[in-house]
Amino acid sequence: WKHAPDSLRTVLELSRGHGDKDFLVYEDERTTFEEHFRQAAALAQLLRDRFGVQKGDRVALVMRNLPEWALTFWAAAAAGAIVVPVNAWWKGDELEYALADSGSSVAVVDSERHERLLAHYQNLPQLRAVVVADEQRSGQPPTPVPGVETVAFADIRTTPGGDVQLPDVPLAPDDDATIFYTSGTTGRPKGVVGTHRNMCTNLMSLFFLNTRAQLRRAGEVADVSEGGQNAYLLSVPLFHATGCHSILVANTAAGGKLVMMHHFDPERALELIERERITTFGGVPAMVMQILDSPDFAKRDTSSVRAVAYGGAPAPPELVRRIKQHFPSGSPSNGYGLTETSSVTTMNMGDDYVRKPDSVGPPVPVCDVAVVPEHFEGDEPTEDLPRGPQVVGELWVKGPNVVRGYWNKPEETARTFTKGWLHTGDIARIDEEGFVYIVDRAKDLVIRGGENISSVEVESVLFEHPAVADCAVIGVPHPVLGEEVGAVVVLRPGAQVTAEELTRHVKERLAAFKAPAHIWFRSEPLPRNPQGKVLKRELRTELVEQSST
Ligand code: ATP
Repeated sequence: WKHAPDSLRTVLELSRGHGDKDFLVYEDERTTFEEHFRQAAALAQLLRDRFGVQKGDRVALVMRNLPEWALTFWAAAAAGAIVVPVNAWWKGDELEYALADSGSSVAVVDSERHERLLAHYQNLPQLRAVVVADEQRSGQPPTPVPGVETVAFADIRTTPGGDVQLPDVPLAPDDDATIFYTSGTTGRPKGVVGTHRNMCTNLMSLFFLNTRAQLRRAGEVADVSEGGQNAYLLSVPLFHATGCHSILVANTAAGGKLVMMHHFDPERALELIERERITTFGGVPAMVMQILDSPDFAKRDTSSVRAVAYGGAPAPPELVRRIKQHFPSGSPSNGYGLTETSSVTTMNMGDDYVRKPDSVGPPVPVCDVAVVPEHFEGDEPTEDLPRGPQVVGELWVKGPNVVRGYWNKPEETARTFTKGWLHTGDIARIDEEGFVYIVDRAKDLVIRGGENISSVEVESVLFEHPAVADCAVIGVPHPVLGEEVGAVVVLRPGAQVTAEELTRHVKERLAAFKAPAHIWFRSEPLPRNPQGKVLKRELRTELVEQSST
């Protein structure tokens, strides 16, 4: 790994070697690796010359999956900027928060997000340019933002001929490359700052895992990909670490064809699997389950699939068996990771996964993992900690894929990262073969279809309602999504409010996916520990048992 690529710029330069192979397919648009390189180099130059983007400046991507997302990502990274992918489901206030917190000077947005931001741009004095990505698709010229250069992407996108070079920006492996906003346990999302080294480490981990899998499977499965090129169905959002690091970056480096979906839809996914001879698909477990359950499944030719890769949320052990049954030549894999570990931390794949379907697998070779007691006070795992397959505690992770911390949040960084060890907030055990099992979550998050939701953020909004005296937000099991948001509410004496009104109240303030799907009204106080913390695990058990009887 000494001579492995150590910056995104190098990865982009090397990807040019894939020449006229397909780089990206979106609807009826196709771009080759050479065209992509030329467009990215021209855009990188334009970001510098026209919008004044210097090394370390932040360029925000505020859109659903579109080819312009991938192109701007590579151009901005090659220009030395820090790319800020923003969750496209967020409402105007949430988008404004991410743009302001990151201090982004350029925002590339799609027309829907542009509309949502129109009332907010005036609060973002650091913004110099807004580029609207899909105005041609929507048929509308972009609404100008007063005082800010507003352009249509189509007007700045070029494929120059002749000799093209990336702008000459010296990039070091430990320079910052991305800020991903992730829901934390304390209210507003935090910006996770990843370096070029972090990204490249994830890339090399994936290469290692894939090579090992191929060696193990050699001769077992015929190569059904066209012309030997892998084809990856991108069904997850690029604004999360997995979509960006483990799919976009990994495919660009490996020369795979990226078949991009604007948003997930199981029938459309099956159509694309057949049409583009997809070799790898996946996403969060909920997506895989929806594809398997689709009435179209039996009608489509899925024989090209060789790998079904998922993660981001607990996967039911049953899923392995279903995949083996439905994809005779497709190998299932379950990856565990966090935005803070630049995507993959452990991976269970192939025969190992069939043997241990409830494990997320062993750590990638560059990573150390340890299980520490849940309220451990030390700053690194010590020799005297209890060990062994029965020991359950918080999972800590250390390695070159672990990020340096949170953007402008020194206290939270110091709390979560100690001596290079990331405290994941996940409760785990590690068996005698080094396989990790995620058994619970200590952090106060709900993971709905792979999308993390901070309970505290939803609780704060519920508390703003005049009828609410106390509340607790918990994850409620759901067969496909994994979890849904549930809220337990205690009303003020004499107050009256319906569940529908409370849901509407949340939806007016936060992205729709964060709104409670279940609300329970409770007359007695919430159960609390002596420090006053709500006993959520007890509450969840009590409610889930109640509703199943
Ligand atoms: P992405 O940011 O791309 O969605 P991610 O979901 O892996 O990737 P986060 O959004 O930061 O990353 O969420 C991390 C949390 O998701 C973990 O701390 C864990 O609770 C949960 N998680 C991720 N992968 C798995 C998995 N394979 N099995 C169980 N839980 C998982």
